[in-house]
Amino acid sequence: MTENQAPRAYQIRTFGCQMNVHDSERLAGQLEDAGYVPVRAGSKPDLIVFNTCAVRENADNKLYGTLGHLRPDKVANPDLQIAVGGCLAQKDRGEIVKRAPWVDVVFGTHNIGSLPTLLERARHNAEAEVEILESLETFPSTLPARRESSYASWVSVSVGCNNTCTFCIVPALRGKERDRRPGEILAEVEALVAEGVLEVTLLGQNVNSYGVEFGDRLAFGKLLRACGTIDGLERVRFTSPHPAAFTSDVIDAMAATPNVCHQLHMPLQSGSDRVLRAMKRSYRSARFLKILDEVRAVMPDAAITTDIIVGFPGETEEDFQATLDVVEQARFSSAFTFQYSKRPGTPAATMDGQLPKEVVQERYERLVELQNAISWDENKKIVGRRVELLVAEGEGRKDAETHRMSGRARDGRLVHFTPAGAHVDRAVRPGDVVETVVTYGAPHHLVADGDLLSHRRTRAGDNAEAGLRPKTSGVTLGLPGFGAPAARPEPVSGCAL
Ligand code: SF4
Repeated sequence: MTENQAPRAYQIRTFGCQMNVHDSERLAGQLEDAGYVPVRAGSKPDLIVFNTCAVRENADNKLYGTLGHLRPDKVANPDLQIAVGGCLAQKDRGEIVKRAPWVDVVFGTHNIGSLPTLLERARHNAEAEVEILESLETFPSTLPARRESSYASWVSVSVGCNNTCTFCIVPALRGKERDRRPGEILAEVEALVAEGVLEVTLLGQNVNSYGVEFGDRLAFGKLLRACGTIDGLERVRFTSPHPAAFTSDVIDAMAATPNVCHQLHMPLQSGSDRVLRAMKRSYRSARFLKILDEVRAVMPDAAITTDIIVGFPGETEEDFQATLDVVEQARFSSAFTFQYSKRPGTPAATMDGQLPKEVVQERYERLVELQNAISWDENKKIVGRRVELLVAEGEGRKDAETHRMSGRARDGRLVHFTPAGAHVDRAVRPGDVVETVVTYGAPHHLVADGDLLSHRRTRAGDNAEAGLRPKTSGVTLGLPGFGAPAARPEPVSGCAL
């Protein structure tokens, strides 16, 4: 870029799970280090990056459809660059530029750090650059990241997965589990907290197998306890654990560490032991329920959520009934429910016994009905309870109409509240912390319409008000800097892990 040239504006469109959302923060961080700026609302970008997901059966059709829509833009403006990364790029590789030759760069899940170089090379050589690596080039957390939020951040503990669940494409596309050193993880958490971040979510495909690479089976529990010693860190969450590796030491660490939230996302997938075996999930339903009992024995207020796949190949009505039985007993606060769909490249895609769509749909509806009733019952029990909320941004679609704001309780529940009362002398902002009493429980959210009991203004709130979000350097993991926010990703669809 010469002095007179305006910086190139980028837009990142993110699909898929939290891993991708966090990877997009890293893509944004690198692009900004390379001189790009986030595109302004209503303006056209000079660079569009797709961070794709391969989980849905027709994800590729959707991507090629979207790329097709961009062709006229590229013809009208040859300077526009289009890059495709993420799981679908890792899977489809050179196929992407064959089907959409106007794409400039294709990069995979193992080399997100190469994006700026590949863009430069594509521009210089005036031809597409496709670079897919088979294993991780650099641990992604060593790359800079422009964080999405001033108050809550993702922190990776590991990438990849050593399991072989037959419905899942992650092992094929993200590789074997690689663990970060605890010191690096804690340094990143401390750096974020030093800039006012109040909440971190430790992130991995299978967080509680953390330590497998450096031979410490108890490493995840120790990491939670170490997070408890970080001054100013108010909330620690993690996702997702695998029931087979969820050991008592993690439950003890959760209960004994005050800043670890009593929230657990525990993917069930199926309540039938026969289906779990076919899925190559090594726990059984009785073991799963026992873990929940253990958790609730020491944290009676824990909110437990789950993922369930309906209609796995060969699932009988009896198997499905077993899922409903476990759901009845488990009393999940909410569940991400998925209809099984073939994911090319997974063992389950070629299994016998693929079920007709109508059967899957009908079972799915019964499951949703049951879980909604349970979620509603559980939420009604919370009416009258005092809750502490970390005020959130963009979580309440109707907030403007209802004059409410929204926040997350410590157990992860979404609460829409009225930001008023004798304790509120200045505006409540995202990133602030308030306390209130729940007045109504709906199936998927809570409402608190009484006066606030307290309002604590925070540095995260100051930063949110000023439009500032942390940018971790990633290189030294020293203090992050602040800047204008990156473009918000498109809504994220759940990933059935
Ligand atoms: S579902 Fe989760 S545990 Fe199973 S292979 Fe995929 S990422 Fe690993």
